[in-house]
Amino acid sequence: MKQKPQNFNSTAAKDPIGKQKRRVKKKSGKKREKEEGIITPLIEKYWFQRYNLFSKYDEGIKMDEEGWFSVTPEEIAIRHAEKCGGDELVIDCFSGVGGNAIQFAELCPFVVAIDIDPQKVNMARNNAKVYGVEDSIDFIVGDFFQLAPSLKGDVVFLSPPWGGPSYKRIGNFTMDLLKPKDGYSIFQAAQRITPKIVMFLPRNMNLNEVEELSWLSSPPLSIEIEENYLEGSFKGITVCFGGSA
Ligand code: ADP
Repeated sequence: MKQKPQNFNSTAAKDPIGKQKRRVKKKSGKKREKEEGIITPLIEKYWFQRYNLFSKYDEGIKMDEEGWFSVTPEEIAIRHAEKCGGDELVIDCFSGVGGNAIQFAELCPFVVAIDIDPQKVNMARNNAKVYGVEDSIDFIVGDFFQLAPSLKGDVVFLSPPWGGPSYKRIGNFTMDLLKPKDGYSIFQAAQRITPKIVMFLPRNMNLNEVEELSWLSSPPLSIEIEENYLEGSFKGITVCFGGSA
């Protein structure tokens, strides 16, 4: 029988470029984040997609549990920014941990990011720093409905709460299921700021109701609907009212 040479290093022989070492390093990163309570059982599925959410995740991105469910994947946030690109001032009205605001800031001169939760705003500010765009974003802690009458901007972006991951189980998602108020009320508050409104809505959204929103203006606003996919999976729809880029 052949004997292994004494100094035979099976890891180095099978893995000359050290892939195994890298794998071990990643695993310990996950272990650490689990210990720190960053990865809870509920968000584990989202953690595996972390680089789809923020390509710079490893550079210090911060998110809470709600943030993991609700942040717009980066590729789709870039698409939203392209839709609003060229507009001087974009208002992101439910900005959460900042996934959209960051991409707006990459393409548009200035962004106002509003969220009612001060912790979300802190995380969004941190995340904007990671991307080096914090100076282009004005972060506001507040209720969009209270702030709306005093806001001025060229385009309003609305990604209102869809009610958490359970939205997927609904066959026909209607405007009244949006939070914190129904979709018509959210849209009307935005209309007082500008007719150019971009909404990110669930993939199972009732399209008749979406079209009805354009009839809240006289003459009716133009409307364009785009489906958004990520790695072949249908994530949501983007609706542009009042002229798109
Ligand atoms: P989802 O249901 O899609 O997971 P969230 O519940 O995470 O969405 O809500 C999205 C964001 O909207 C959250 O960061 C939340 O704090 C924020 N938000 C909720 N109500 C208001 C409001 N009235 N004004 C501004 N931001 C709000």
